[in-house]
Amino acid sequence: MVANIYPVNLNNRQVLAFFTDKDTAIINYTLESLSISSFKALYMPRQGHTDNVQILLKWQDTRSVSISDAVITNLKGILIGVKTADCLPILLSSKDGALVAAVHAGWRGTAKAILKKTLDIMINRFSLSADDILVAMGPSIRGCCYEVGPEVVEKIIEVTGQGEHIKNTNTGFYVDLCKANTRIALGAGVPAENIWVSEYCTYCNPERFHSYRYSKTTKRQGAFIGIKLDSEENNE
Ligand SMILES: [Zn+2]
Repeated sequence: MVANIYPVNLNNRQVLAFFTDKDTAIINYTLESLSISSFKALYMPRQGHTDNVQILLKWQDTRSVSISDAVITNLKGILIGVKTADCLPILLSSKDGALVAAVHAGWRGTAKAILKKTLDIMINRFSLSADDILVAMGPSIRGCCYEVGPEVVEKIIEVTGQGEHIKNTNTGFYVDLCKANTRIALGAGVPAENIWVSEYCTYCNPERFHSYRYSKTTKRQGAFIGIKLDSEENNE
């Protein structure tokens, strides 16, 4: 059984957005496996902990799959998504539902500010104001469990500055990718009330979510968002 999580700020008449959990024990997602009929296609990039952002403006653009860790589209009827198992999935939409994005941010992507890069493209290329962008951060490993080395902390701080997303304890350094990326979104001008944050740490909830650190699994949950087809187009 699928028990998807639907962030309340992103789902509306135009946009469908959800995070899957472990019940969708799927490696290669398809529209069929997700039981989704209101979309014509599914696009997921080949992820590589890069800061490459793939922009899909024409259906032609969906034919080649590049190595990237963020996708932006204004096309109706295509569901875009990223896969994670501890890394942070981030879904974004403009308030008018005309532009959506999906981002995969592990510590490397966070340290490369992939979310900032995605927001900059949404703002500059698509003439949005940061106030008009809605953000949802999905289940990921959180500050309670994500122990990292000092070199990781150093790289993240270069982008985010110090803050409560980094904890230095007796046992080591802990990073909260969700809080780090929330800081990045706030820093780019997105208002706090536009940001939805999942309550779940993947490592704390291995019965519900895939956690690479917990089980070294190759399975991933998915994070998906898309602009729905108009109902008449859907009936064509
Ligand atoms: Zn935890």
